[in-house]
Amino acid sequence: MTPAIEIKGLHKYFGANEVLKGIDITVEAGQVVCVVGPSGSGKSTLLRCVNLLEEPTEGTVHVEGIEVTDPDADIDSVRRRIGMVFQQFNLFPHMTALQNVMISQRRVLKRSSKEAEIVARDNLNKVGVSDKCDAYPSQLSGGQQQRVAIARALAMDPDLMLFDEPTSALDPELVGDVLAVMRKLAEEGMTMLVVTHEMGFAREVADRVVFMDGGVIVEDGPPAQVIGDPQHERTRSFLKRVL
Ligand code: ADP
Ligand code: MG
Repeated sequence: MTPAIEIKGLHKYFGANEVLKGIDITVEAGQVVCVVGPSGSGKSTLLRCVNLLEEPTEGTVHVEGIEVTDPDADIDSVRRRIGMVFQQFNLFPHMTALQNVMISQRRVLKRSSKEAEIVARDNLNKVGVSDKCDAYPSQLSGGQQQRVAIARALAMDPDLMLFDEPTSALDPELVGDVLAVMRKLAEEGMTMLVVTHEMGFAREVADRVVFMDGGVIVEDGPPAQVIGDPQHERTRSFLKRVL
């Protein structure tokens, strides 16, 4: 089967600064892969190279068999299959939760207002905020805002989801609700590439954990191996700090 994401020999420079130094990762359809590692190790840049929010300097990225690094690739059509959730929720402050989940469906997928609303309500229900459809972001907790952001991504019917530290901006007591939504998505078979510091989530939900440090992958394997029995000193000292 064609992998959902296949990254080969990926290098990324910002000016003279080499941030990704030859990354290889394959994510099969239906897999959950968690990327962990210290701040500045290149995790966000890696994620952003998948949908070309950052342009790789060298190497190839395939999404569902399509080479997104090919200058002739239809990037918009590939991006449409990829949902992304950021640490900062980036909801439109002047729109209600419902409107936030409808807008891209209307603009990008050209859905009718009626259809977009049905899909929006369905997804807001799925993430547990169906009672907040008419609330504005400022009236929602961080956890509720992030769940709206997840609903917004899901409303576009993505084949795969990228999460960049989706719970890092949340008060500790709100983290669990967001992780529960992500866990449910994983159980439903969504393909997910997740940058996170939540080792419990990685251990329980991920098929594979990738440990990055200094722009390289130090370890890549099942959680029981990478978190439970790390082979490298760099992994061990990182885990000591976060566990
Ligand atoms: P992480 O997500 O693991 O914390 P990042 O991918 O955000 O790491 O950043 C890796 C390195 O790349 C850091 O040194 C950061 O300063 C640098 N970097 C990230 N984005 C940019 C950018 N747009 N321009 C210049 N440098 C950047
Ligand atoms: Mg980051």
